[in-house]
Amino acid sequence: MPEITSPALIKEVQKELAALNLYDGAIDGIAGKKTAAAVTKWQYLHNFTPTGIITEAIRRNVTVPQMFARQGDAPPPKVPKYPHDDTKSLTAFYGKPGDESKHQFISLPYPMKLAWEPSKEITRIRIHQKCAEDFSNFFNDIFQYYSLDKVKEYGLDMFGGSYNNRAIRGGSRASTHAFACAVDINPAENQLTWGKGRALFSRPEFTPLMQMATANNLVNLGMKRDFDFMHFEAAWVS
Ligand SMILES: [Zn+2]
Repeated sequence: MPEITSPALIKEVQKELAALNLYDGAIDGIAGKKTAAAVTKWQYLHNFTPTGIITEAIRRNVTVPQMFARQGDAPPPKVPKYPHDDTKSLTAFYGKPGDESKHQFISLPYPMKLAWEPSKEITRIRIHQKCAEDFSNFFNDIFQYYSLDKVKEYGLDMFGGSYNNRAIRGGSRASTHAFACAVDINPAENQLTWGKGRALFSRPEFTPLMQMATANNLVNLGMKRDFDFMHFEAAWVS
């Protein structure tokens, strides 16, 4: 098979080899020495004759399985722990909006500031007891992963509200905040109408934050609907 010369295709291979930690050169579409060395390593690891040459067969074998592997990275679908985000389902699970009988306080691993009054610090959050443990673990994960400096830099200590018996913004049905199953974080940099690219939490450095939410059965509305990136809730959003 002839060697591939298309820079676009070579770039594809370079990207995949870089993702596999086999290549640390430029993604420039030029099959130079470093690229050849990386291809050789890949061929060696996958029982191909190590030639260092990118043929069509090599390109396909390097790139296609990787794309599938990444799609397969997502956790397998499981039965959601929390109810669907609609009034009927939420009420059945959490009780009526504004019912405070099953609320509790969770202690925060780091102090937060009220976003609307930053001189005021809080050390605990009011939340429904059914999702208290998941939110508690979520904040512990944040603290462990980002540590205090990053927590402050990223405004992960800016508390935008949890329980609040109110309707959704711009609508009449009860907000998940009225069920005490939602927490807003850093509203100033994740404003309600801001979507991907503008909202701070939509940036790549917050991928771990979103993974922590998912791991603790929580949903970030921004990731689902491309608005309200500040909002984390214990409900299932279709
Ligand atoms: Zn919210």
